[in-house]
Amino acid sequence: MSRIFSGIQPSGELHIGNYLGAVKNWVQLQYEYESIFCIVDYHAITVQYDPTQLRARRRDMAVSLLASGIDPERAALFVQSAVPEHTELAWIFNTITPLGELERQTQFKEKAQRQESIAAGLLNYPVLQAADILLYRADRVPVGEDQVQHLELSRVVSRRWNALFGRPTGKRADDGSEERETYFPEPQAVLTPTRRIMGLDGQAKMSKSMNNTIGLLEKSDEIWAKLRPAVTDPKRIRKTDPGTPEVCNVYHLHRAFSPTATVEHVAVQCRSAGWGCIDCKKVLAESMERELVPVRRRAEELRAEPSRVDDALADGAARCRAIARETMCDVRERMGFDAAQSA
Ligand code: SF4
Repeated sequence: MSRIFSGIQPSGELHIGNYLGAVKNWVQLQYEYESIFCIVDYHAITVQYDPTQLRARRRDMAVSLLASGIDPERAALFVQSAVPEHTELAWIFNTITPLGELERQTQFKEKAQRQESIAAGLLNYPVLQAADILLYRADRVPVGEDQVQHLELSRVVSRRWNALFGRPTGKRADDGSEERETYFPEPQAVLTPTRRIMGLDGQAKMSKSMNNTIGLLEKSDEIWAKLRPAVTDPKRIRKTDPGTPEVCNVYHLHRAFSPTATVEHVAVQCRSAGWGCIDCKKVLAESMERELVPVRRRAEELRAEPSRVDDALADGAARCRAIARETMCDVRERMGFDAAQSA
């Protein structure tokens, strides 16, 4: 069975953008692949942060993921810093990754523009990502379109390490050079089916830093307070103006939460000015409630019984640590270190 790895930052409770854009897909994938899901707290410290909040956010993220349907009996869910081999392998990969390739990463360029002082960790972020994936020799990675470039870097790192340190197979490659084993796979993208979810401002991707989110665990009145003023088709000024659903974020949220018949009805009502945007949003709020009430209920149960969250994370970390140690033993041995030290 193929193995998938995916990580999420410990940003506290999930919002519907990362629920629809990643986690809902993970819940499906855990039935199709051997699945490893990681709360990547070492990635979260590449920008300034508060240690107390980091602890609380890691916990809130674990609750959100389990409440969303990640099943610890099926998938390994764990916190990155509980498996120190991630940083050991990242260091090794740093030594074979050219600086130029990191400087070309679009996400680095975007994030660096917003920082006064740029930490080396921000530049090396994709190297740690490569280590996260390859530590488990995962061959599939569920990603959104904006992560494809980072995944390509993981493939480059994998190829380069195999060529330098893979054991000789005793055969000759097509170019006459000595063929080496493919120790690390070249992970392939499993593209997330939901296109990226825009924020309620309709301007940018839904993100806590943009303050344009709806929390996955927010109560119905809180959701409505945010949904009511959400930006719609800007050309639909009066109720009598026909709209274009494809340009409206509310329509895209209908596509994520409402049944197909409702989505078709929304499009017809919008184009014909058969209803106003508030009517449309009320129907969306009902669809969201149908999906999110059970998630909220599970989150409440988990908060009332914190040992269930602790046990799930401890079990996931133990499973992942065993795989990680095995990989690092092989890596150390092939690179001329004492393999036994990480066993
Ligand atoms: S009717 Fe619905 S889909 Fe059309 S613009 Fe208004 S909120 Fe958007």
